[in-house]
Amino acid sequence: MLTRQSPLTDLKGIGKTGAEALASVGIRTVGDLLTFYPRAYQNRGEIRPITLARAGDTVSMLLTVGTVPRSVRLRGRMTITKFRAFDESGSIEVLYFNQPYLDKQIAVGEEYRFFGRVTETKGVLRLVSPVRERLSPDLPLADLVPVYRLPKGIRRKTLGDAVKAALDALLPSLEDPLPEEIRRRRSLPTLTAALRGVHEPEDRETLRRSAGRLVFDEVLYQLLAIGLSSANRKTSGGIRFPDTDLSPFVSRLPFPLTGAQKRTLAEICRDLGEGREGDFPPMNRIVVGDVGSGKTACAEGALYLALKNGYRAVMMAPTEILARQHYAEMRPLFETLGFRVALLCGSLREREKRLVYEGMTSDDPLLRVDLVVGTHALISPQVACERLGLIVTDEQHRFGVSQRSALAERGDRLPHTLVMSATPIPRTLSLALYGDLDVSRIDEMPAGRQKVGTFAVDESYRDRLNAFIRKNAEEGGQVYIVCPAIEESAPEEEDEEGAGVELGDLLFAAEEKPKLKTAAEYAKNLRENVFPDLPVGFLHGRMKSAEKDAAMADFVAGRTKILVSTTVIEVGVNVPAATLMVVENAERFGLSQLHQLRGRVGRGTKKSYCVLVSDAKGGPAAERLKTMTSTNDGYEIAERDLRLRGPGDFFCRAGAPIRQHGDPGLRLAAKWEDTATFTAAEEEAALLAKSDPGLTAPEHALLRASVLSFADADPSKMN
Ligand code: ADP
Ligand code: MG
Repeated sequence: MLTRQSPLTDLKGIGKTGAEALASVGIRTVGDLLTFYPRAYQNRGEIRPITLARAGDTVSMLLTVGTVPRSVRLRGRMTITKFRAFDESGSIEVLYFNQPYLDKQIAVGEEYRFFGRVTETKGVLRLVSPVRERLSPDLPLADLVPVYRLPKGIRRKTLGDAVKAALDALLPSLEDPLPEEIRRRRSLPTLTAALRGVHEPEDRETLRRSAGRLVFDEVLYQLLAIGLSSANRKTSGGIRFPDTDLSPFVSRLPFPLTGAQKRTLAEICRDLGEGREGDFPPMNRIVVGDVGSGKTACAEGALYLALKNGYRAVMMAPTEILARQHYAEMRPLFETLGFRVALLCGSLREREKRLVYEGMTSDDPLLRVDLVVGTHALISPQVACERLGLIVTDEQHRFGVSQRSALAERGDRLPHTLVMSATPIPRTLSLALYGDLDVSRIDEMPAGRQKVGTFAVDESYRDRLNAFIRKNAEEGGQVYIVCPAIEESAPEEEDEEGAGVELGDLLFAAEEKPKLKTAAEYAKNLRENVFPDLPVGFLHGRMKSAEKDAAMADFVAGRTKILVSTTVIEVGVNVPAATLMVVENAERFGLSQLHQLRGRVGRGTKKSYCVLVSDAKGGPAAERLKTMTSTNDGYEIAERDLRLRGPGDFFCRAGAPIRQHGDPGLRLAAKWEDTATFTAAEEEAALLAKSDPGLTAPEHALLRASVLSFADADPSKMN
């Protein structure tokens, strides 16, 4: 009997290596396969007559084999099998490589559906290595064929069979956690039907409805998970800081605070100082503010209050680079105020770390540390902190919820928590995303900020752009070049299956998709051909974190002048010498993401620029680029992003972004643009929150379990 928890090796055809391959994308059990959604679908149902086929197209054709297939041996071990096939409109040559046995398997007169890429050499059209399916009256062929992301070490067919086996084994006994009443009210298919419908869609409508149900679930679970955690929110046990006088700190800042910073600090003071000891809730606040709006100063104010009231405080950053950056700024500031500051991150020597650990528990004036700035090394199990009063987390969305609370729950008193997020969230969504937190918004930029000059250009500007990049790099500036993090499809995958249609393309209006620049090819070309004389760095998501940090550190230190990267360039990193941000295939990015990228430049005194390169003409992509060139206001951009793309992107980025491939969570919602699904899920979440906030009613038992496992899957798989 297969269950959701059965190991993959229980499936026929999956051995140890197959299971390992799947584990590398987060699939460990048979149940995990259910939510390993296709990354795309091949539209094999749309049949193209031969006369209408053009070179470069990936097409589906219904053809009859017209000549006897012949296998020929070429140089080396290579063989080619060739034959002609025809439809009513004409004939075409079909070609396979290295499958010499095919001449015995394919016979004249047989009818197949072929799916593959059309090529042309010297006027001869060919169908190269197409997938073929024998036509047979009693076995209709599926129009939409799912394409799964294929981890290394497993064959496409094996993976497809495994998913099918998982569906067949698990769906019949799968219970739907969504209450029947909600399902009917929202006309949603059952979970069983929806899972079947995304893996084996009969047609587009089924696919759309099925994906809609799964998106609904993702959003509902997300909202309910927030609800459950806020139902658990502590209303007492916080530490009151009687002294909330910030003036010594404020007077040491090199700038006057903006109104928004003052307001935020006032809110923090109220959280920390008001009310009576005893029934005092710990602070649980998020500061949301555009890049460069000055969130750090607010964090520092809060840290200062903890320290001056005799407590320790911790400042946690998602990467070592960011941690070091904060340390460099905060150490002198707090030392002049009489406190001791230490850095704690993974790369320190064991001895150095031990010294910090000791300082976090010791009262010895020589050893004592008041403020620790660090990475998640701070939440490693051996870290204990005495009299911990406040935990600040920078760029909160890089940490999972449970990571944040690990340190908080270690002490005997509950420390206050403050998190910072640079994702401007439209007001309408902030409840759904941050329902369990009090929100402070920094909606005002420090005075005198230079606007980043933003331009959208197409490929015809390439030479001028390269000259501009060179000029920036040679005149003391630094340049980021960002390419979309699209994986190069393995050649074997292309050959076997032809190009897929992205889920997004199929479900929504297809946008023109210009050819992609992959970061790797692009960096190589720049290094070798365009700027052989300039130091070009390269950074991408698959690098080990030490390599990433090294590449980033080289750029921060100015050892590389040009940094080609995928979007992994660190949120929050401050390289004031960076004067130019180039975004390749800018049509691939959402508005808020483009805005974040643009926020990496314009941090110094020099005029900075952002160049968005795209060949997209018209459509939502062009609209986004126009928005970028017309405004620098993060909130305005976020609101437009919400209108243009729907909320999916926000949930993905702010709630639980940077997900590993294959892990559960908001996987479909991130691609979903139909706001109605989100609204429906929000309404149902609100109703449930009223009628059964803890989801303790027996009829919600399964729902509760699903929500908890959804929430659980969220943070733990980071890094
Ligand atoms: P973010 O909100 O993105 O974390 P930071 O806190 O890093 O932004 O601030 C960005 C830059 O603006 C820093 O160099 C900081 O010193 C400066 N800054 C912050 N607040 C002010 C202010 N009120 N006036 C002038 N400059 C400020
Ligand atoms: Mg910051």
